[in-house]
Amino acid sequence: MSVFSNPAFDNHERVLFCRDEPSGLCAIIAIHSTALGPAAGGTRLWAYASDDDALYDVLRLSQGMSYKNAMAGLKFGGGKAVIMKTPDFDGSDALFERFGEFVDTLGGDYITAEDVGMSVEIMATIARRTRYVSGLPLQSGKAGGDPSPKTAYGIYCGIEAAAKARLGRDSLEGLRVAVQGVGHVGYYLCKLLHEAGASLVVSDIDETRVDRVCGELGADRVGSAQILAADADVLAPCALGAVLHEESIPGIKARIIAGGANNQLRSPEDGQRLADAGILYAPDYVINAGGIINVACEYFGDVDDEGVTDLLAQIGPRLADIFEEAQRTGEPTNVIADRRARKIIAAGA
Ligand code: NAD
Repeated sequence: MSVFSNPAFDNHERVLFCRDEPSGLCAIIAIHSTALGPAAGGTRLWAYASDDDALYDVLRLSQGMSYKNAMAGLKFGGGKAVIMKTPDFDGSDALFERFGEFVDTLGGDYITAEDVGMSVEIMATIARRTRYVSGLPLQSGKAGGDPSPKTAYGIYCGIEAAAKARLGRDSLEGLRVAVQGVGHVGYYLCKLLHEAGASLVVSDIDETRVDRVCGELGADRVGSAQILAADADVLAPCALGAVLHEESIPGIKARIIAGGANNQLRSPEDGQRLADAGILYAPDYVINAGGIINVACEYFGDVDDEGVTDLLAQIGPRLADIFEEAQRTGEPTNVIADRRARKIIAAGA
């Protein structure tokens, strides 16, 4: 397993390999940058096909967190962790406590929270061993708790901005939105879109989750293989990354891609492919920053829940500004966002 020559290595400051045989813990923590503050980003719990896949994922995700936190105006650098569901993984409290101890050894340079596969309850277990954790059970009126409803609200604001920029629409009423993955973020996003009068077509590899959205919100279902090419105005990828690439892009019918998944583009060149296909792409780390904004407000304790909502609403104008530059210059939106993020990080360093 190579680190420095890994294709996702981007001069990361630190990578910590965490192994504890008695509890079965196998994890990697990557700190991409602390230029703007402690490296913050969630922990993903996933069954990786190999150690290399896990390393690649954590390196790429942590770099994305640096860009996300910079663009959201947070006093956070970028970091991420993955806990690997290896054969000896048993999901015990001891395993997550041990993980908390590893986080603690970094002395606050890395702050963790939820990502795919984690929950508020697991965060509370990790917090028994470290204070460098956020996304903890909500205290009334304060920022905190499960970040996914906040992520979903930020995406909703971003879809509004994209609908205005690409379709000239002031409302989402009557729009059709295809949502890939109706887990935490996807489900809350569907609720908001349904309340706004949009119609939904959804897919998930977990059929019980599809049943819930179809039953509660009248969504239509399609198979996982069909969702990207569904007949819709907006495609919202809310499952895993790397879904937009050379093979999938030609089949996409939506004129807008705006969703919560991290690292939606398989490679930066896919941003150009989307622009060439006339599809407006909302850069993932800009539109899905709602959760980390909530985490930051909880961690620093300086903004209450109402203040968080105001900060989330800024995701719309932030995207509108990127869309305007893309329209003016012909550059893909991901290139514009990356340049802006790197500039903010360089200024912080
Ligand atoms: P989750 O695990 O609750 O939901 C993901 C869903 O995607 C699951 O229901 C899963 O079954 C489904 N899925 C997986 N592969 C699929 C496929 N090929 N087709 C259709 N469905 C598939 O995770 P989440 O917290 O909702 O996060 C979703 C995405 O958003 C992830 O990429 C995550 O990194 C990103 N994200 C989450 C947050 C947050 O606040 N939770 C914040 C920012 C970004």
